[in-house]
Amino acid sequence: MHIKPHSITALAAVIFTLLLASCGSENDRSAAQADGPPRIVATTGMLGDAVANLVGSQAQVETLMGPGVDPHLYKATHGDLERLESADIIVYNGLHLEGKMVEVLERLAKEKPVIAMAEMLRTRTLISADNFESAYDPHIWFDVSLWTRAIKHLRDTLSGFDFLDSDSLMNNTRTYVGKLEALDKEVKETLAPIPLESRVLITAHDAFGYFGQAYDFEVRGLQGLSTLSEFGLRDRVDLVDMIVRRNIKAIFVETSVSRQAIDAVIESSRERGHELMVGGRLFSDAMGEPGTEEGTYIGMIRANVRTIAAGLQ
Ligand SMILES: [Zn+2]
Repeated sequence: MHIKPHSITALAAVIFTLLLASCGSENDRSAAQADGPPRIVATTGMLGDAVANLVGSQAQVETLMGPGVDPHLYKATHGDLERLESADIIVYNGLHLEGKMVEVLERLAKEKPVIAMAEMLRTRTLISADNFESAYDPHIWFDVSLWTRAIKHLRDTLSGFDFLDSDSLMNNTRTYVGKLEALDKEVKETLAPIPLESRVLITAHDAFGYFGQAYDFEVRGLQGLSTLSEFGLRDRVDLVDMIVRRNIKAIFVETSVSRQAIDAVIESSRERGHELMVGGRLFSDAMGEPGTEEGTYIGMIRANVRTIAAGLQ
């Protein structure tokens, strides 16, 4: 077939229109999903909490990963796949936090709206990480003001869906952002008494980079950004050298990571004549039990900050 140049333009216009139409259909729920309230499925507890605060009673929000669950290692179960397949919207952190769910999420993104919360932020606000798959640190929720920014992006994205009421999203977000701004202030006040030389936060894995940057702490994780990375003997010797040299008194365990490596560091420090304490348990990549204060984002941050303040003073 011989196609004249102007026909090609016309054909391109048709394809473009079709593409637009298929994008537009994402805003409507499919007939199969149209019964009952819209369902939004989030991967981590922090994401589920954020979505629930924004949508209120307009949608049913479900979270795949409960208390103590490590998102770096988590694989979607058969039940999770069913929940994801039947969801109207999926929200995940992205930046390779859910390292073993990337393929599933990318496949689902071809079928339905899949929102990567951390990937909505401008890259210049992210911490670069050369040796991590996404090239950026995914633990954005530990800087309350950065998390607040991500929540505003989430509001804007959710407002684009016809089956969600944007006025209500705006109002809910305004109320929640007010609470987060107060939380950010409270975090700074609680941490203020910790002297500069004691502002070293050592944890099981590198989840607190954004926390350190926002609230002026030097952070060291025994493992890297992912709990998949190894904590070798050389790393332990180097870390214990630093702990002894700088007379660091406390190290912190995480609720979603094994404390084996932490105990090894405490033991090695003791062998060098330095008494190192466990400063407490921090919620890093998972929140506390549902129904408790720590089972919410605000409660988990508050609990962490109190633990850190008590452990390092
Ligand atoms: Zn992590």
